[in-house]
Amino acid sequence: MLENLKNFDPEVADAVKNELKREREGAELIASENFVSRAVLETMGTVLTNKYSEGYPNKRYYAGNEFIDITEQLAINRAKQLFGAEHVNVQPHAGSQANMAAYMAILNPGDKILGMDLAHGGHLTHGSKVNFSGKLYKFSAYGVNPDNCMLDMDEVARIALEEKPKMLLAGFSAYPREIDFARFRKIADEVSNVTGQGCYLMADVAHIAGLIAAKIHSDPIPVCDIVTTTTHKTLRGPRGAIIMCKEEDRFKHIFDPDGKKNLARKIDSAVFPGMQGGPLDHMIAAKAVAFKEALQPDFVEYQKQVVKNASMLAETLMENDVDVVSGGTDNHLILIDLTKNNLGGKEVELALDKAHIFTNKNMIPFDKRSPFDPSGIRIGTPALTTRGFKEDEMAIIGESIAKVLRCINDPSAIEEVRQEILSLCKDFPLYPDMEY
Ligand SMILES: *Cc1c(COP(=O)(O)O)cnc(C)c1O
Repeated sequence: MLENLKNFDPEVADAVKNELKREREGAELIASENFVSRAVLETMGTVLTNKYSEGYPNKRYYAGNEFIDITEQLAINRAKQLFGAEHVNVQPHAGSQANMAAYMAILNPGDKILGMDLAHGGHLTHGSKVNFSGKLYKFSAYGVNPDNCMLDMDEVARIALEEKPKMLLAGFSAYPREIDFARFRKIADEVSNVTGQGCYLMADVAHIAGLIAAKIHSDPIPVCDIVTTTTHKTLRGPRGAIIMCKEEDRFKHIFDPDGKKNLARKIDSAVFPGMQGGPLDHMIAAKAVAFKEALQPDFVEYQKQVVKNASMLAETLMENDVDVVSGGTDNHLILIDLTKNNLGGKEVELALDKAHIFTNKNMIPFDKRSPFDPSGIRIGTPALTTRGFKEDEMAIIGESIAKVLRCINDPSAIEEVRQEILSLCKDFPLYPDMEY
């Protein structure tokens, strides 16, 4: 019980140590990743992991939850304050589970959902055939306009009125432009009026939650019935998710006239006991710490810098003759279109990785290649901005990516880029006093 990791399990300790080195010595551009603070990291490694606390604060199935109640209630209160939400459930283990619980709370298997086309930037949990969502619910999709690769809200409205879904879903994993949530609300209301049945609006803001919390992106909370988000992307907390919702179910009189639960209770029951067992109390406490960080003024500055950095990176890429889907970005992410370069995402991801630039291959809208070797590379600035990178460094990163694309078959050029990235990373120490 008292032996430390290094002594007891050098294999795992070594892998962790090497991961820290990898994170330190590379340009982390994966748009869904970030670096948590020391305090968040510390909280995740506490004895809170030992506790069972099925239920909710002051309504637990086991004894001994007086301290767990404090941390979970802090997480709830701070999330409410941060987003201005009426009700928050902080227990979902991850974004996928948050979405599963949200669907379960108000839909029946076989119900219709209209969401973003996966190939245009939707998420697996938005109806992929290999995911529970596509197996349990009837999904249809809207996509981006072929001319500018941006959402065409008139087209979304047209499809919504044709499909008449029970839920309209606004959520994106690879869409670089700002979302007009108010317009999504209008569309859901139009569908409700036409069908007389009711159309819920849900937003999945897993990627852009940090921007929303900092109030530099249009706000889904006032207009959506349910908003889910991960806590580990732009929000910069521990791995996990939360569900925010209105207290009342606006279509209870239609779908559930005799039910006793409002929407908030339905969400809570869907998470536990509907879909999960015991909550991860150490992660929930770490969410509370992350929300406290997000309530500080410097968090707003951070999110503003994330967006500035992404704009600079997109501009630099375009100046260096690299195509960017939709011709730029409004948020933290950029989708590089490799069509013109006649390269596949797979080989580019690998070449960039060799140069210590970490990215992921990604489908682009109307992609002619396969998901296993698509035409796009997705990049984002949340992690490097946490490290302290600003516009000047983003220009260097942009030029480095362009160079890798130009010289993909020239190992010495790739090595030159790697050396440059290594020296750049040295100027921005990550967890400087940490051993592993
Ligand atoms: C990342 C993401 C998720 C899922 O999050 P996990 O924690 O990986 O399950 C859900 N929806 C969107 C839009 C995402 O980008």
